[in-house]
Amino acid sequence: MTLSCSCGVQYTKPIKVWPLRCQCGQKYILNSETLTLKEWIEPPAPPQNGPGTQLKMLLADLGIRNFSGCSCKSKSAQMNRWGVEGCREHFNEICEWIDEARKNVNWSTKIIAAITATTNGLAFRIDPTDVAGSLVRIAIERAENATLQS
Ligand SMILES: [Zn+2]
Repeated sequence: MTLSCSCGVQYTKPIKVWPLRCQCGQKYILNSETLTLKEWIEPPAPPQNGPGTQLKMLLADLGIRNFSGCSCKSKSAQMNRWGVEGCREHFNEICEWIDEARKNVNWSTKIIAAITATTNGLAFRIDPTDVAGSLVRIAIERAENATLQS
């Protein structure tokens, strides 16, 4: 049995990798009813106001914008995909990421300095003995509020 793309290229089953990307650029999944190719609809992108984004904004508020040397981009996307509930579940894992990143980028001194320098409410909510945990908790909370508002 063969499956054909609208551009004319034909594929012979079994196709191992789905979604199938044709050389013309079209992407397909298998239409299980008719056993033909069905255009693949991309799953929605993770929400942009999720906990990962909130955490990044939080760090920016504290003057930390240099993320070189850590994988914050993919981590923050992962946190957005998890959403508020998922981040609560993976709380310890996220704190470990942050602790790891802090070692690499030398955040600790910066964060402590920022906390003492800022007089906004945020500073008072960060426990110097548990910076990572405080940040994750605030980020989740902000994401939750953002979701409720939208
Ligand atoms: Zn094609």
